[in-house]
Amino acid sequence: MICRDCKSVLPDLLLDPASPSNTAAQAHVDSCSECRAELNELQATFALLDEWTAPEPSAYFDQKLAVRLREEQTASPAGWFERLRSRLLFNTGRQFRPAFAAALAVVLLIGGGTIADLHMHTSAPATSAAITDLQVFDKNDQALQTMDQLVQDEGSSDDPVVEPIS
Ligand SMILES: [Zn+2]
Repeated sequence: MICRDCKSVLPDLLLDPASPSNTAAQAHVDSCSECRAELNELQATFALLDEWTAPEPSAYFDQKLAVRLREEQTASPAGWFERLRSRLLFNTGRQFRPAFAAALAVVLLIGGGTIADLHMHTSAPATSAAITDLQVFDKNDQALQTMDQLVQDEGSSDDPVVEPIS
């Protein structure tokens, strides 16, 4: 076993040194001082974490959270661009599924055509072109509807239906 492979399995070795799958790593650690030092550091970190206890929330935590929640509930809903951005930022899985990307490309094409059309009838804007494009795009009802449908569809089409062979 080489050092790079050994270092990638060091956490496994630390948590379960007796496991047969860690025999090779254990043998390497016994013969390699660099990896042994790293295992010792990891061990020290885990020992430190064992001692650590999570702090108690402050007495007003629940009240503050309730106020924040009410503020968020009464705030005006975010535009679709903001929602899309937060989805891409915070969604933990499947956000780059090919279907989603393809549908987004279609939306951008529709939006792009609308923007080009609108630009012919408006005078040169003072703000930057990108901001103007986004503002126009934000008002594009067609794009908005497509995006809403996209967001709703995403949850339901996760499991592909397998057609039975007759
Ligand atoms: Zn090593």
